[in-house]
Amino acid sequence: MRLRNITGSKEYIAESPYVVHDIAAHKNGWAEIYGNSNPVYIEIGMGKGQFIITLARNNPDINYVGIEKYSSVLLRAIQKQEELNLPNLKFIRMDAEEICDVFGEGEVDRIYLNFSDPWPKDRHAKRRLESRQFLERYDAILKPDGIIEFKTDNRMLFDFAVDEVKESPKWHMDECTYDLHKDERLMVGNVMTEYEEKFSAIGNPICKYIISR
Ligand code: SAM
Repeated sequence: MRLRNITGSKEYIAESPYVVHDIAAHKNGWAEIYGNSNPVYIEIGMGKGQFIITLARNNPDINYVGIEKYSSVLLRAIQKQEELNLPNLKFIRMDAEEICDVFGEGEVDRIYLNFSDPWPKDRHAKRRLESRQFLERYDAILKPDGIIEFKTDNRMLFDFAVDEVKESPKWHMDECTYDLHKDERLMVGNVMTEYEEKFSAIGNPICKYIISR
């Protein structure tokens, strides 16, 4: 998701108390940021934040961190959080490639990847958030019993993601569906992302996996 550049969004973000700045300084310090040692769930590529904001509202005993690369998109999430002022939700503007600079070993309990950018060219495969290179990064920051949940309507990306799990001996496929919205069991507690609403409304099946080590 890339919105037109919004003038002043970088400056606005730099001033926002809902955004964690100087991210490397907080590695292993998330309990301090939230003032408690509740579990930490992160969404990488959160877009305008609909999914993570809903989760943070519904689960006050979990700390959420929304990660987004683009200022103009992150700005939308900040504006919603300004109205809600949820104490258990923070944002970071960054490229997820640097995720290991932000969270220490085992500091994260769950990672959500929703409707990630597909990077269709083969030579860009390692930029996909579900690539083996990213799985290695997630391995470094997830607790031993941590999980990753991934949803998309992009079948090519999903097939790639499933293959990457198969090729990564550490990871185990706990759940895998090619039509989430028809799966009553996996739909329990499902929170729709903005893209999920948009693509399921035009009839695209939603794929989902849950993986652990
Ligand atoms: N997750 C939201 C949803 O499901 O509605 C937004 C999906 S949108 C297609 C993907 C988002 O991921 C975009 O906002 C994009 O800027 C962000 N993104 C892609 N690659 C990223 C990366 N390496 N680090 C951080 N954000 C990234």
